[in-house]
Amino acid sequence: MQLVCDQFQETGDPAFSKRVKEVSESGLERCYQCLTCTLSCPVAFAMDYPPHQIVRMVQLGLKEQVLRSSTIWICASCLSCVTRCPNEIDIPHLMDTLHQIALHEGVAAKEPAVAMFHEAFLAPIKKYGRQYEAMMTIGYMLRARQFSPKDLLNNALLGFKMITKRKLKLLPPHSIKGAKEIRGIFEKTEERGK
Ligand code: SF4
Ligand code: SF4
Repeated sequence: MQLVCDQFQETGDPAFSKRVKEVSESGLERCYQCLTCTLSCPVAFAMDYPPHQIVRMVQLGLKEQVLRSSTIWICASCLSCVTRCPNEIDIPHLMDTLHQIALHEGVAAKEPAVAMFHEAFLAPIKKYGRQYEAMMTIGYMLRARQFSPKDLLNNALLGFKMITKRKLKLLPPHSIKGAKEIRGIFEKTEERGK
């Protein structure tokens, strides 16, 4: 079998591989590079490394290249790969683990808009236990800082229209019953990514 490391310059870091295996519990050590995941992936065309290669790169401990890849941010968690993988390797969970490690280690995401949206999307859920669209939208716009004054005005007008039609709530939602437990899950996950 040809190892994908032939085309990389990086020396493998076994500690990274071990850490990802333990945290993701994705069973990636069972992968035998059949490519089914990549052939099933609807967004593989947009990735710099297809899913089967990311699995191989993690096995080889190619930390820098994995954490800097666009793949870990482009994965849409659609589950097509894990559904078809003959070894039931949980690639979406693997990608989530890699997000967490990349964010914790401050690695600049190759797809910054996706990474910013990811953070903006999760922040209200962590706070209230449910989504709060106004906070998510404003959070994303503040993070992205790439909107022109015209875009900001258009978004504000659109937001106002949605509020008047009751499609968007201005006030924060009440926290749900299990909000504390959800926050605990976030904290535990963040801890595991360290
Ligand atoms: S489908 Fe599973 S076994 Fe096949 S390459 Fe992908 S992860 Fe590896
Ligand atoms: S979960 Fe991610 S890697 Fe797997 S098929 Fe869907 S988009 Fe591709």
